[in-house]
Amino acid sequence: MARAFNFSAGPAMLPEAVMRKASAEFLDWNHTGMSIMEMSHRSKEYMSVAHQIEADLREVMAIPDNYKVLFLHGGASMQFSAIPLNLTAEGDTVDYFNTGVWSDKAIKEASRYVNVNVVVGGDCENPTEIPDVAEWSFSEDAKYIHLCANETITGLEFQEDQLEHVFAQGKPVIADMSSNIMCRPIDVSRYAVIYAGAQKNIGPAGLSIMIIRDDLIGHARQITPTLLNWATYASNESMFNTPATYAWYLAGLVFDWLKTNGGVDAISIVNERKAQKLYDYIDQSAFYYNTIKASQRSWMNVTFYLTNKALETEFVEASKAAGLLSLKGHKAFGGMRASIYNAMPEEGVNSLIAFMEQFAKTHA
Ligand SMILES: *Cc1c(COP(=O)(O)O)cnc(C)c1O
Repeated sequence: MARAFNFSAGPAMLPEAVMRKASAEFLDWNHTGMSIMEMSHRSKEYMSVAHQIEADLREVMAIPDNYKVLFLHGGASMQFSAIPLNLTAEGDTVDYFNTGVWSDKAIKEASRYVNVNVVVGGDCENPTEIPDVAEWSFSEDAKYIHLCANETITGLEFQEDQLEHVFAQGKPVIADMSSNIMCRPIDVSRYAVIYAGAQKNIGPAGLSIMIIRDDLIGHARQITPTLLNWATYASNESMFNTPATYAWYLAGLVFDWLKTNGGVDAISIVNERKAQKLYDYIDQSAFYYNTIKASQRSWMNVTFYLTNKALETEFVEASKAAGLLSLKGHKAFGGMRASIYNAMPEEGVNSLIAFMEQFAKTHA
């Protein structure tokens, strides 16, 4: 059976070349007589793999030397608690953007520990735009500014000019990049902390990645659980306890695949083209529409509705039958969502557009 194009938001499609390599090595990794998932994380073999993976990630994202890279459990959501615990004291104030469901979850969790000033948003559960900078209100004494770089459910993404305005505040900027990490080159040095669950653009679920500026590690509150304290991971090569070894290895295969294919620079060109052609098709069609402010649309998660809502169930079923999977949108936003992360070939987007055209024609 041929592999289908899977538009799931996460866990999401992985590159076929990666899956083939993992499959070939599944039973016997590198002539050791065992799978890498059966191997001690402290073995010489696994440690050397882990080191190589970190080196590859540093290369792919051009991570400066004064940043630590941590490989953790608990998903991005665990960091919603870890961030305030590691960076603030009781009574401190922090600034959070509320641009959608994931921002909102981060705010709710942080509010258990600190005073959260919402810079902008929060008036509706699923905003379709990030308001103009004129409406933003930062607090004087915020310890950091937190934002979700790409709201996965709606497909709403911070743009360069807005990020510039955030950086200009001169505060540590913390970004949840779960759904857009490595989709385009970024300057890591502008951020204090970058974090991402792996299951969208990195690898399998069960792993999350943090990139943290050195000086921000080691200040956790005394009550911080050991496994939420970044220093625990930083001083133990992310191996204080058993890490998600197989997910970590597979993420490594993805970094290697990215390097082989020209890195983030090359994939960002493809990503922009994939998103642009899909939005262009939706915009010129009377059958489909997108509600996100045009200049803030995500490269990774493309949401759309059918003008005739009664056809949505049939659209989902027919697309599935055509080998285009998981197009149903998140229940909080409705409609359809095509997640087109790095691993989605351009051919998958072409097939989706061809299917949408055909469906519109036969249901006009
Ligand atoms: C998926 C997602 C999360 C949650 O990730 P988990 O690994 O399930 O905790 C957080 N933020 C964003 C932007 C996401 O897309």
